[in-house]
Amino acid sequence: LRHKERSLDDKRREALNKILDIKGCIRVFSRVRPFLPTDKQRIHQPISVESEKIVVRSGGSRKEFEFDKVFPQESLQEDVFAEVEPIIRSALDGHNVCILAYGQTGTGKTYTMEGITESPGIIPRVLQELFNLSSLDSSSSFTFSISMLEVYLGSIWDLLAPRPSSRKYTASRCNLNIQTDSKGSVEIDGLTEVEISNFTKAKWWYHKGRRVRSTSWTNVNETSSRSHCLTRISIYRYGDTLGRKAEASKLWMVDLGGSERLLKTGATGQTLDEGRAINLSLSALGDVIAALRRKKGHVPYRNSKLTQVLKDSLGDKSKVLMVVHVSPYEEDVGETTCSCTFAKRARAAECNRELSEE
Ligand code: ADP
Repeated sequence: LRHKERSLDDKRREALNKILDIKGCIRVFSRVRPFLPTDKQRIHQPISVESEKIVVRSGGSRKEFEFDKVFPQESLQEDVFAEVEPIIRSALDGHNVCILAYGQTGTGKTYTMEGITESPGIIPRVLQELFNLSSLDSSSSFTFSISMLEVYLGSIWDLLAPRPSSRKYTASRCNLNIQTDSKGSVEIDGLTEVEISNFTKAKWWYHKGRRVRSTSWTNVNETSSRSHCLTRISIYRYGDTLGRKAEASKLWMVDLGGSERLLKTGATGQTLDEGRAINLSLSALGDVIAALRRKKGHVPYRNSKLTQVLKDSLGDKSKVLMVVHVSPYEEDVGETTCSCTFAKRARAAECNRELSEE
């Protein structure tokens, strides 16, 4: 049975590599949030899905946005994970991977990434899958560790840092440098990394990090998060013979801060600063992804902490998957158009020029 599973595994891996070769290393999906039970009855639906396109209708105009994949309102967490699953194999094969949830606050980014107890999202499914797949791989053995950080107002906060002389954990500001070593691998000095030996421990640490994440308030959504929350799984692959650390790869899962424009949120003071910081880093992320997808000469990683942290996982040899979330509401059509335009830029046509890093 184990042998059969292995050969099935190999076939799937081959199929995946073909898909990734054809479509390039950056894929952009969209997910439309369903109406919630608390919503009033909606008659006009400005957003529709036509195969892999989102169609936005507003004031007599009709705009179409194409994606690599669109998840309509009725899609399930399983449907989303089915598209994500192949790149988990890629991470175990040694590639750096980055999964990003983008969109206006309230459109379902956290639902997609984390999910709810009855319907878990990408992060718990990825953690489970890593342990499942690694136990099936007879040619190598793996260890995993977790780190969590928040990029807030341009600073990095370590969400798993133990507080000295206390058993409590708290977000601790990470003033240390982001360094890139000679192989181009990014290191964040001082960031806590905890080894996770099974799924239960992995979930425990993830929830610990989530609890210390700082949040602020705006009037778009009471619990709108004004920071980016990044979970990193470091994967160490040991070969058969020497048992030394042979290969390390990173798998980032990123719940980005809300992309809404600031005027709409009515933000002032600190919340306005938070919103500005989010918008700047999101546009820096868009610039990096657009440059990578176009294979354009210059990749502007340095313009934000977010892109500096993710530099070695957004690059040419990594696999990137971004899910752009959109609202089903008429009043959000402007934001939806902005999110889809962001995605369109990120999906800009590829050409064959050499990349250089800043
Ligand atoms: P965001 O992280 O973008 O601010 P949330 O993930 O918090 O948005 O989603 C807002 C609300 O909508 C939450 O109550 C969430 O449970 C619900 N929700 C989002 N997406 C879905 C979905 N696909 N199915 C069911 N409920 C969803």
